[in-house]
Amino acid sequence: MSSNIIAIVGRPNVGKSTLFNRLVGERKAIMDNVSGVTRDRSYGHGEWCGNFFTVIDTGGYVHGSEDIFETEINRQVELAMKEADVILFMVDVDAGLTGLDEEFANVLRRTDKPVYVVANKADTNARMHQMGEFYAMGIGGEEIFPISSQSGSGTGELLDEVVKHFKDKGIEDPDAGVPRIAVLGRPNVGKSSFVNLLLGEERNIVTDIAGTTRDSIDSRYNAFGKEFIIVDTAGLRRKSKVSEDIEFYSVMRSVRALEDADVCIVILDATRGIEAQDVNIIALAEKNRKGIVILVNKWDLVEKDTHSTKQFEEEILSRIAPIKYVPVVFTSVVTKQRIHKAVEKAMEVYDNKTQKIPTSKLNDLLLPEIDRYPPPAIKGKFVKIKYVTQLPTHNPTFAFFCNLPQYIKEPYTRYLENQIRKHFGFEGVPIKVLFKKK
Ligand code: GDP
Ligand code: GDP
Repeated sequence: MSSNIIAIVGRPNVGKSTLFNRLVGERKAIMDNVSGVTRDRSYGHGEWCGNFFTVIDTGGYVHGSEDIFETEINRQVELAMKEADVILFMVDVDAGLTGLDEEFANVLRRTDKPVYVVANKADTNARMHQMGEFYAMGIGGEEIFPISSQSGSGTGELLDEVVKHFKDKGIEDPDAGVPRIAVLGRPNVGKSSFVNLLLGEERNIVTDIAGTTRDSIDSRYNAFGKEFIIVDTAGLRRKSKVSEDIEFYSVMRSVRALEDADVCIVILDATRGIEAQDVNIIALAEKNRKGIVILVNKWDLVEKDTHSTKQFEEEILSRIAPIKYVPVVFTSVVTKQRIHKAVEKAMEVYDNKTQKIPTSKLNDLLLPEIDRYPPPAIKGKFVKIKYVTQLPTHNPTFAFFCNLPQYIKEPYTRYLENQIRKHFGFEGVPIKVLFKKK
């Protein structure tokens, strides 16, 4: 099975991301008219009548001044021609035919892939009749598809045609089992440098949002022999008049990136040590039960005889206490120190997070520990733990079955968590311990 790919191209503001959101069936993008912050996803997955596909919104990376439009057009179209099975060329019936649309049409003429002209914002019958002028572009065959991305009207007819070009039914979720990594941290710690280094060195992005990936979301990588998805990036690079909004959105985006991720790489700046905001990010990751790896970046700038890694690590762990299972990697993006190790650690944490320990193994190793140090008796009542099992949940959760679950207190819960970590690892992963009556 292949991954059927639909690419949406077109000048800014025609409604590409609105259609994108409709096709992927999520309303995750922040819709806002501050140009350039409307997009949250560069690609997503959708389904039409049993046909699974991936949609790429080729816009949303470069915005602004007129002079970059030419490269922008080429970049979008090249990406679409390279990756897509079907190209949707979107225009805006409300605005009518513009010079930029014609430029797009000219570049699109070079492809032999199927191109559909999609006349968006055809919300009313009157508007639908305005689409005639787009035939003048001479592209996209006989038919132009009037749609309203906002209401969804016309999208069914369009998809009926589009799916005819698919070779097969496609894969339901091509990203299943691929680790989703969020790169988080305060401004200026080196997030985008880190992500760019992964990109630049290996040049193996599966969905290559050519060259401009530094602003993209959800890019799939293949670096150091590992497949993973970077969920968020360094945040917004685009200029806006409304700087508070941008700040707001970038915080929103980090929070959502965190929620969408399996593992969070939290980057600190070695020259500043761990700060309150770093602690907050880590606490938020733990609260959401995400895998966590801490990178102490800019390690090249630190006087090594005054600051050892050990001291640094101890300081970090004391600040984030009681969390103590988080691996810390000392990196320098500039001298490329331990970047490989950082990626490897993130993958390891992912594996830890997804591991399922067989019940027999758990009981074999944990019941003797419980015998050695049983739960303290309360009011003359003895708690007897009978067995333990890992629940089939998304995040590691262990249920201990016992006669009096209500009598087990926090310190004993922590003891059991430590025993689980001692025997089974779970480095970088929050785990949950529950007690059930049996
Ligand atoms: P993009 O820059 O091409 O991705 O365009 P957006 O998806 O950000 O949409 C630009 C503007 O057009 C937004 O204000 C949308 O709300 C609006 N828009 C998108 N689709 C429609 C539609 O079908 N009808 C109308 N009336 N407005 C739409
Ligand atoms: P972001 O805001 O977190 O994305 O940070 P950037 O990636 O933009 O980096 C901020 C600044 O720190 C840039 O000037 C980078 O060149 C610099 N920088 C990033 N990583 C390192 C590093 O490992 N060592 C040194 N010396 N500088 C770095």
